[in-house]
Amino acid sequence: MTVRRLAPHSTTIFAEVSQLATRHDAINLGQGFPDTDGPASMIEAAARAMREGHNQYPPGAGVTELRQAIAELERSRTGLVRDPDTEVLVTVGATEAIAGAVVGLVESDDEVVVIEPYYDSYAATIAMAGATRRPARMVLKDGRFRLDVDSLRAAFSPRTRAVLVNTPHNPTGAVLPREDLEQIAALCHEFDAIAISDEVYEHLTFDGIEHVSISTLPGMAERTLRISSAGKMLNCTGWKVGWVTGPADLVAGVRAAKQYMSFTGATPLQLGVAHALQHEQQWIDSLRDGMQARRDQLVDVLTGVGFDLVVGQGTYFLTADPRPLGVTDAAAWCLDLPGRIGVAAVPFAPFTDRFAGEWSHLVRFAFCKRPEVLDEAGRRLQALKR
Ligand SMILES: *Cc1c(COP(=O)(O)O)cnc(C)c1O
Repeated sequence: MTVRRLAPHSTTIFAEVSQLATRHDAINLGQGFPDTDGPASMIEAAARAMREGHNQYPPGAGVTELRQAIAELERSRTGLVRDPDTEVLVTVGATEAIAGAVVGLVESDDEVVVIEPYYDSYAATIAMAGATRRPARMVLKDGRFRLDVDSLRAAFSPRTRAVLVNTPHNPTGAVLPREDLEQIAALCHEFDAIAISDEVYEHLTFDGIEHVSISTLPGMAERTLRISSAGKMLNCTGWKVGWVTGPADLVAGVRAAKQYMSFTGATPLQLGVAHALQHEQQWIDSLRDGMQARRDQLVDVLTGVGFDLVVGQGTYFLTADPRPLGVTDAAAWCLDLPGRIGVAAVPFAPFTDRFAGEWSHLVRFAFCKRPEVLDEAGRRLQALKR
């Protein structure tokens, strides 16, 4: 019964893999959520807010303390000064910020450029807006995923309203270098398009690599919506506290859509996150070090089993190529894996589109799990050794 424009997006292989993982009591390295809590003081601040009566609607744009803390974070991360009242909007996760940006700023006869492989909500959101998506792609260059500039140029047209950018990148773990972002920015200028920049993993870069926000490139502060989320920053994906920052005219478009999607998110959780952004920067920094160690641990495990890997320098994820283990259809293999050895991973398929054939052999593993959980996954994965 689902409407035509959403029917192609109605079921995902994520749900299927997660169900199988539960049924077989598998270690779920498919879905990207951490298995430890965020800072205790954040949880206490949210609980205290609830006990102290902060239980009614917050302002539509989000609680003032949180918007101020986000503006401060923005200044320290990007050097951009954003007005907490008009240039910062709290959303129900980054997902709502992305949806609000597309629904609130893209006309139904506009086009939106996406870069494959891409986070699965992008295509569904563009469909909800009734707009057209134009896929470009990434390519593997010298062992890293980079932007394929030719495909990006081919995807832009005079009807392009926006490009959805994601760095650090899910599913590949790639951190796009400044040169790639400059190419995107140049096309935004040439075609008068905006960038909707999904930076939920902005603080999770490894090996000393710096995250670059496209909003900091010349002339881009005026045409970028920068989206982030407490979920990935503070190990609270279930709280669904996200935000968007940008110039007032663009943020106004997101707000127009957002106020009729959810109106607002949960007051005490916003207060908890505000507390953490003000007082737990050190915790956020140490999360990066821990996550880099988890990545290295999973790299060792998967290399030992015989996978070919593309090791990125950010996020929760790494890319594995199971062809050396005799696997060619990664989607079928991922559906089989939980029952066979008690580990779950997801194929690239749900992140792909026009260039699907180029990605069908790849699998995404999440390493945002406790070391002992990765150890146990490693023991189970030994069964795949040839
Ligand atoms: C997790 C994730 C999101 C969604 O973030 P929420 O705050 O949970 O809505 C958006 N984009 C990417 C790339 C993600 O990995």
